[in-house]
Amino acid sequence: MAHGDVSPLISFAAMQPFVSVKHLFLTYPNGYQALRDVSFDVHAGEFLVVIGLSGSGKSTLMRTINRLLEPTEGSIVVNGTDVTHVDGEALRRHRARIGMIFQHFNLIKRHSVLRNVLYGALGSTPTWSSLAGRFTQDQQSMAMDNLNVVGIADKARQRADALSGGQQQRVAIARALMQRPDLLLADEPVASLDPATSHSVMSYLERINRDYGTTVICNLHFLSLVRQYATRVIALRNGEKVFEGLPADITDEWFRTIYGDDAAEVEIR
Ligand code: ADP
Repeated sequence: MAHGDVSPLISFAAMQPFVSVKHLFLTYPNGYQALRDVSFDVHAGEFLVVIGLSGSGKSTLMRTINRLLEPTEGSIVVNGTDVTHVDGEALRRHRARIGMIFQHFNLIKRHSVLRNVLYGALGSTPTWSSLAGRFTQDQQSMAMDNLNVVGIADKARQRADALSGGQQQRVAIARALMQRPDLLLADEPVASLDPATSHSVMSYLERINRDYGTTVICNLHFLSLVRQYATRVIALRNGEKVFEGLPADITDEWFRTIYGDDAAEVEIR
């Protein structure tokens, strides 16, 4: 069989996982157990979508992988490095290679689009120069390149809050690309957007995944988007993994197991 004929599933299975989550538990300080014994692997180049009702633990899982939260039990290994309890410089290095995309974009509204993208380079810029707003020529041209990737280079000089929601999310994607991330974590990236704009934003994430080989883990609410963009899906319910498989494997029965009585709501788009 020629190299190009190897199916992605076969080649993924043969590789070491890029992200390996094992028996993960996360208990918040108030005692609420938001993740319970969650295990899964993500291979390099996958587009893994995490689904589940609001409150099922999707966002907690993201924040635990990028180690904004420290696991109560279990382990997280990213690209061969155990990051479960890293701190200090090792934690900074871990975060530096993960691009984060949030539901509400998290841009600095009064600052220009270009400046917002440049802030994505802060992890690699000395604090004194970034505070003074100085970025290198290389960083500036990389920021423009990244705005080109998401199709809004012409907006570089505008204030971030002059852009539509979908455009602001594209700025956030360009900002994440400044880190040259090998892992993108997108936490409900289209939850505040209308259906057409949602597809546009998702297609940029898809393109980055495909063209750069960036591994993506993305929380999504609407199943039609899951079916279109995910290479693999896991579902959480009450902090437990209740499903893992291909988008096409989510039968009506699984659908009811994952979403219970709220099933109708997630099929809208
Ligand atoms: P999702 O992203 O699927 O909506 P979350 O991960 O945000 O779910 O939340 C999972 C559960 O953890 C929810 O019941 C939520 O109320 C709870 N939770 C989230 N953050 C905290 C916190 N800081 N302290 C206590 N409980 C929390």
